[in-house]
Amino acid sequence: MNTSIHIRGDGAAGLALALSLAHQGLASRVIAGPTDTAASDLRAWALNGASKELLAALNVWDQLPAAAVTPIQAMRVQGDQGGVLEFSAWQAKQPALGWIVDAAPLLDMLRQAARFAPLVTLAPFEEAPAAAPGLTVLCEGRDSPTRERGHRAAGHGLFSLRQHPYGHSALAGHVHSALANGGQAWQWFRHGEVLALLPRDGGYGLVWSLPHERAAALQQQGPQAIAQALNEATGGLAGELSMTATAALWPLRLAHDSALYGAFAPGSSWVLAGDAAHAIHPLAGQGLNLGLADVRVLAEVLAQARKDSPWRGSDDLSVLARYARQRHGPVTRMARTCDALWQAFAQPHPLAAPLRNLGLDAVNALTPLKTWLVRQALQG
Ligand SMILES: Cc1cc2nc3c(=O)[nH]c(=O)nc-3n(C[C@H](O)[C@H](O)[C@H](O)COP(=O)(O)OP(=O)(O)OC[C@H]3O[C@@H](n4cnc5c(N)ncnc54)[C@H](O)[C@@H]3O)c2cc1C
Repeated sequence: MNTSIHIRGDGAAGLALALSLAHQGLASRVIAGPTDTAASDLRAWALNGASKELLAALNVWDQLPAAAVTPIQAMRVQGDQGGVLEFSAWQAKQPALGWIVDAAPLLDMLRQAARFAPLVTLAPFEEAPAAAPGLTVLCEGRDSPTRERGHRAAGHGLFSLRQHPYGHSALAGHVHSALANGGQAWQWFRHGEVLALLPRDGGYGLVWSLPHERAAALQQQGPQAIAQALNEATGGLAGELSMTATAALWPLRLAHDSALYGAFAPGSSWVLAGDAAHAIHPLAGQGLNLGLADVRVLAEVLAQARKDSPWRGSDDLSVLARYARQRHGPVTRMARTCDALWQAFAQPHPLAAPLRNLGLDAVNALTPLKTWLVRQALQG
């Protein structure tokens, strides 16, 4: 029997998993990625209440610099033909609609916490190591190279990982505004483009989903060209905007793996968590929230199995099946919802635009439905 747990990937999911396991009394070894880009990650993540609770339980949330966390007090979603949907924390009787957290300080804090956690060992990158005895959790992100090896070894065939490129890239960066943001998040659906401004210290986090060519051209033209395009697109609603540095590009795709676990060899199994298991369009800001929910469930399932049957090895597939069963429904629902929203606003049919804008207005008129939507989004 081997009880080792290896985690491949030191992104948010991998580090949060190592800390969650340590919290439950389980030791793990985190293997770093081939390149370290955490400090230059320009994204601002919208996190829900469940993610906040997990990070607070890991003693990470309270250690974040105050400037790295901004509560969302209100959100305005604007359609491409005048439809508007507005949410407010006050109306939903919640302290916030969610929290915008800068990626770089969050990753730094998770890493510091892991460095000091007694049951976590941090190891440097290992290229294509032999299948380790025990369990390897693949938190390698959406391009996980070990995932394919795992599927092949487990005989899962080619189709367990379904991928669909959106033909868009997200332009992400930090935006300064001449007006205080007041905790207001903005989102514009503009004839297939999705533009979000997320309130953060000194301005906004930008996530702008654009066709690849336009996104690449804007990035190449630099901060001034991006700011000019942004000011045209937002019409001054969020104040006069300027970019504080150039933006990063993230090609977007939908990916959903239906086979979440398997064995590399007898006594050596693998399981997927975070973006290695699912990648979704960032229009609803839910990718990492899903990944942190994976982390919570996987840590609970592994800890419970160790308590109930201490003689079992961590490679036991029946335990991993429990995790897969619990995650299947929520991940499938979220992936479908985000994709349906994307498809609804990308639809070029002339009747589609009035219908989707009417839909926004109709939901906007229903306060109880909006309150329910806010509660669902906060719970994750
Ligand atoms: C523009 C944009 C905006 C987003 N906004 C939001 C948001 O508002 N809210 C939200 O919840 N989500 C958001 N997301 C999604 C979120 O960024 C991801 O879900 C999250 O980063 C996934 O974390 P992860 O740890 O699973 O993967 P990653 O962040 O991809 O980390 C994977 C890690 O594995 C390492 N690695 C890679 N290969 C190997 C290997 N062979 N061996 C070992 N390690 C390896 C990498 O170096 C990296 O450190 C957004 C995504 C994008 C693109």
